Amino acid sequence: MTSSTPADQSPTRYAFVTGASRGIGAAIATRLARDGFDIVMNFRSNQVAADAVATEIRALGRQVWFLPFDVADRPTALKALEDMQTKHGTPYAVVVNAGITRDGLFGMLGDDDWDQVINTSLGGFYNVVRPLVRGLLKARRGRVVTMASVSGLMGNPGQVNYSAAKGGLIAATKALARECAKRGVTANVVAPGLIDTDMTKDLPLEQMLQAVPLGRLGTVTEVAAAVSYLCSADAGYVTGHVLSVNGGLYT
Ligand code: NAP
Repeated sequence: MTSSTPADQSPTRYAFVTGASRGIGAAIATRLARDGFDIVMNFRSNQVAADAVATEIRALGRQVWFLPFDVADRPTALKALEDMQTKHGTPYAVVVNAGITRDGLFGMLGDDDWDQVINTSLGGFYNVVRPLVRGLLKARRGRVVTMASVSGLMGNPGQVNYSAAKGGLIAATKALARECAKRGVTANVVAPGLIDTDMTKDLPLEQMLQAVPLGRLGTVTEVAAAVSYLCSADAGYVTGHVLSVNGGLYT
């Protein structure tokens, strides 16, 4: 009996990471490159930031390709992912990380605040994973990791839209895990708390950190380490799991 399938040791492994130009996604892309993956980087528009991440990945001796598109734009995502699979084959790891916030009390939310947040996090999951899942199942190996949030577990006031998107993402990933398990494909969730990125830079952190037992923001490398584990051969028996990286904020 072996502890990992032969496909786990394939020399041609690559990871597809959405929202990889900045913040948590950039850290995931570089961490997975350090783990030995070549990387296809998705992002929306920030080519300058993406270039900096790609330089780091190349310095690690891995190959990197850009695949910028809006994950909420279904036809564009479908076309881009078809092209990616034609050029590079099926990815080993798919990391659904792109997400946005449009915070506000529920009664004050605009239609656009609701639609954009849902369409990016939850729609992005559908638009990205659905076109890739048949390839993963056929390959009989692979990893799907989705980036939810503590908000999707506990529900956060001022974030009804974001909590709904991330809660939906958690449920969708758990269902996918059960669907894909027989073919050796795992699907897991990482649920960060307050992490030091552009997304949190304008929040009243001093006050918010009082609720965090570890008393500080998390770092992007701490979140990337969780994704790295879930994409590793060591995590071959972990599926349908939600791994919180939140300093004890919610358990
Ligand atoms: P960030 O610093 O704002 O970076 C967002 C990344 O996503 C950028 O690469 C951005 O691309 C990309 N992106 C945004 N909308 C996109 C779209 N429609 N299509 C494709 N790419 C898109 O965010 P972050 O803090 O790293 O957050 C990453 C993920 O972690 C999100 O899903 C977020 O909800 C989740 N999360 C974050 C925290 C936190 O405290 N930071 C906590 C819990 C969960 P451009 O550079 O081109 O704009």
